[in-house]
Amino acid sequence: MKNKAIILFILLTLLLSGCSKSDVSKSESNTSNENTESTSLNESKDENTTNKINYNEVKPNELGKIMVLMYHNIGQDESTWVRTPDNFRKDLNTLYKKGYRAIRLNDYVSGNINTKVGFTPVVITFDDGNENNFRVFEKDGNIKIDPNCAVGILEDFKKSHPDFDTTATFFLNSNIFNQPEYVDYKLKFLLENGYDIGNHTSYHTDLSKSDKDTIQNTIVQEIEVINKYIKDYPINTLALPFGGKPQGEDYIYAIKGDYNSISYDNNAVLLVGWDPYKSPYHKDFDFSKIHRVRASETNVDNVGLYDWLNKFDENKEIKYISDGDPTTICIPETYKDVLNTDIQDKIIITY
Ligand SMILES: [Zn+2]
Repeated sequence: MKNKAIILFILLTLLLSGCSKSDVSKSESNTSNENTESTSLNESKDENTTNKINYNEVKPNELGKIMVLMYHNIGQDESTWVRTPDNFRKDLNTLYKKGYRAIRLNDYVSGNINTKVGFTPVVITFDDGNENNFRVFEKDGNIKIDPNCAVGILEDFKKSHPDFDTTATFFLNSNIFNQPEYVDYKLKFLLENGYDIGNHTSYHTDLSKSDKDTIQNTIVQEIEVINKYIKDYPINTLALPFGGKPQGEDYIYAIKGDYNSISYDNNAVLLVGWDPYKSPYHKDFDFSKIHRVRASETNVDNVGLYDWLNKFDENKEIKYISDGDPTTICIPETYKDVLNTDIQDKIIITY
């Protein structure tokens, strides 16, 4: 009897909340959608979140730019390629307060952006797989993560800021985080906790000085090293060591190739510098030449993380602002010309 009463209560609550939700979306959509134009119809979209927002207030712009942040080391002495633990925490806090939310690299390139309405996606990457990216130690028979390594700081931030959607991609060479006995633990931990692993070539090879065999070899060797530990995980993103681009027609081997009967087909190839990159819905977005931003304040030649944050704040550079609905692309009317019109699986909303 008691159980039945509880079930009835739950059903009633669901029914009531369901009703009020659709009422709200209907009444609000009548007012906020007055100046919008949808170029594609979808009957099931009546209650989606986009229909509930006031475009002129939120000003979504899903053709604005996105920062792909590039980190290398976390260490005690700040320098060109080293961020201190406190400065890395400061970066995360600043991003959070300014309305940025982390997304996965593969979601960025595929345009599967789930960032909440009004917020701006940001991609976090680490190159070289140094020990200070992910250091563990054993205490009382348990493996503990160093709270001052990158993963330790990210995990801590994730707990205190669950809505930041904390994630990052670690681009690795053959020496994975420099603690050979813990490679298995670390790679599995990363996958189980929402991080991603990318290719930085086996020997940190400068691909601008390599022939096509060397390029494919060093990419495939790294896939072999990583897949020894995590068998079926697809290594389909590449950060070019030194930002070195394969010459001329050989660039294709940064994207795809094969060696030793192992083939690869990268979804994203990342360069080194210097600026926020295009929205994946932009007609000139190139997944094989994604720009990154130096996530530092030291020797960044006025194009570091904080310079771009200021430019976004001052509207000198226009950032991506989400409409909260991954099934739509919402843009101001003036951006229509730069939209990739080949995109078929999204509803386009202009205002
Ligand atoms: Zn590197």
